[in-house]
Amino acid sequence: MYGFKGKILVVDLDQKNFNVIEKDEPYFRKYIGGALLGAALYEEMIDGLETVNSLASENPIVFATGPMAGGIVCGATRVNILSKAPESTGIYLSQAGGEFGPAIKRAGFDALVITGKSDIPLVLDINNDRVGFVEAGDLWGMDRVAARQRLIADMGKDYCIASIGPAGENKVRYANIMFEPEHYAGRGGLGAVLGAKLVKAVAVRGDQEIMFKDPGTVKKVNRKGGSGFSESIKKHPRSFLAVLRHLGTYGLLEMNRKTGNLPTRNFNSGCPEDTVDLKRYHHETAKEEIVGRITPCKNCFVACKKSSKINPDHSSLAEYESIAMLGPNIGLEGDLETCLEACELCNRMGLDTISTGNIIAWLMNCFESGVLDQEKEGYSIRFGDGQKVLELIKNIAFRENDLGNLLADGIDQAVNKFGPQTMPFSRFVNGVGMPAHMPRKKPGIGFSYLHGPNPNDHMKQEHDWIAAYPGSLKAFNLDVTSAPDALDEAKIDVAKATQTYYAAMDSLSLCMFIFGPGNIYTFDEVIDMVNAATGLQLSFEDLMKIGERTIQLQRKLYLDLGGKDGEFLSFMGEEIPDGPSKGAKINKTDFDHARKYYYEIMGWDEKGCPKKETLERLGI
Ligand code: SF4
Repeated sequence: MYGFKGKILVVDLDQKNFNVIEKDEPYFRKYIGGALLGAALYEEMIDGLETVNSLASENPIVFATGPMAGGIVCGATRVNILSKAPESTGIYLSQAGGEFGPAIKRAGFDALVITGKSDIPLVLDINNDRVGFVEAGDLWGMDRVAARQRLIADMGKDYCIASIGPAGENKVRYANIMFEPEHYAGRGGLGAVLGAKLVKAVAVRGDQEIMFKDPGTVKKVNRKGGSGFSESIKKHPRSFLAVLRHLGTYGLLEMNRKTGNLPTRNFNSGCPEDTVDLKRYHHETAKEEIVGRITPCKNCFVACKKSSKINPDHSSLAEYESIAMLGPNIGLEGDLETCLEACELCNRMGLDTISTGNIIAWLMNCFESGVLDQEKEGYSIRFGDGQKVLELIKNIAFRENDLGNLLADGIDQAVNKFGPQTMPFSRFVNGVGMPAHMPRKKPGIGFSYLHGPNPNDHMKQEHDWIAAYPGSLKAFNLDVTSAPDALDEAKIDVAKATQTYYAAMDSLSLCMFIFGPGNIYTFDEVIDMVNAATGLQLSFEDLMKIGERTIQLQRKLYLDLGGKDGEFLSFMGEEIPDGPSKGAKINKTDFDHARKYYYEIMGWDEKGCPKKETLERLGI
């Protein structure tokens, strides 16, 4: 086989042994890799179980690569991680860049599955086809930077490491998995799955070559993409891609502020007040003072990852999502220093910055509005209380006191404790915190936040603007337009088409900054590259079918294991009070109609469950 190794490594922590499952070409034609392969393997591993406890031995966790991982393709390094989510009630798919995915491939596998639960804290040492179970010793308890330094010193620089921080060890419901040196699979709390299994780190190295059917064509298309990208950012220096290249996702702060899409003070506004000094959001200032050198995933010419010029001792410059959620959204819009400290602290502790920012913003909003009272609670935190934020992050990661312990268990436990009057301030959907795009400004994205299999994920479809340009969706055979602020059937048609495409790209484990529709490659070029790598001779329709299968299989698993779609959040129906997005809201009647229409076109019944014929058509 080309592009695939045909082997899945399954590590059993109960028995401290491993086995290799072989899969043939028809299997990979159907399940290709990444998100879809992860879902298929997860389903296979839990076969026969009706319920799965996310923190129990019975919950496997899958790390799946794509067929182009390990080659010279820009944007093909992503690893998809899937498990029953401690943060939610269903499965969750999270992903990260870096070299961990390619390392799994070089070790000779298309995916790694970890099952069972160890009786002592461990590091898994995967060296080609050998698996070692090494006692973690005093690595347990270390933050990510210290743990990485030790592991690299002990094992060597050619290992790629996935690890958890104290938050994962303490089973915080929104603990992340870190892919060293600076990539994060943040969502769903999958770090707590590893923590519950007593796995501090997984270290992988391999020496196998990656074989493509037609490496010349892969190289040619990749090179053309690189030169097209260079020309395009020269011609359009203010474009989205140019901003990513020059400023990384930090540059999105200013873009989103200008459009009123920057969550501010618990999503109550889309833009900080005029009185706040936001000079450091400006692109010129950012270039001079904040954004350091590029630190890209291997072979990437877009290079959105940056080091921090303002804090050279930080492991990297925090991403837009982290800065937005631990900056403006908790009232630190004018205090970049504390905001970046909070991001770095979360990254060292192994906490998802998005959900951490959300739960802190929720608590602040409860005190600000008076539904929580300092005298009664013996504590209070207000928007902008930077020092209290830093303390609270540590309290959560180490479950240090009653409040830290409570918040570590997620929003549902916290609302139960403080009472239903705090619920309207929650921006969580089925336990998962909301990402940094205003749902009222982008109703199509807001709609997608409320639906599984990956609720509150902003990277599962195109954002609303694309539907406003007639012709931009012709390649999907869609001849519809929908205004940016509308939530109509056309917007839902666009959501379905682009969700399907995104799911296909997730199953190829490709970076959406590069492989997003029309970003760098045409669909024909994407197909040429995939076929040259794998020899599978897929058509664009085949690729979209892979995308459909990905969504439907994940949806089935999500619902089977207790996931549900979110109810309309009351704040979504209230007008944004100020700023460039003033007046924006989602109309509840439009939302109800959109959900009904969405279920219909997705082939789901009135409860949102995939119909038998939908699953059968896709071979599920
Ligand atoms: S665009 Fe960014 S995340 Fe994507 S592959 Fe390049 S460096 Fe990695």
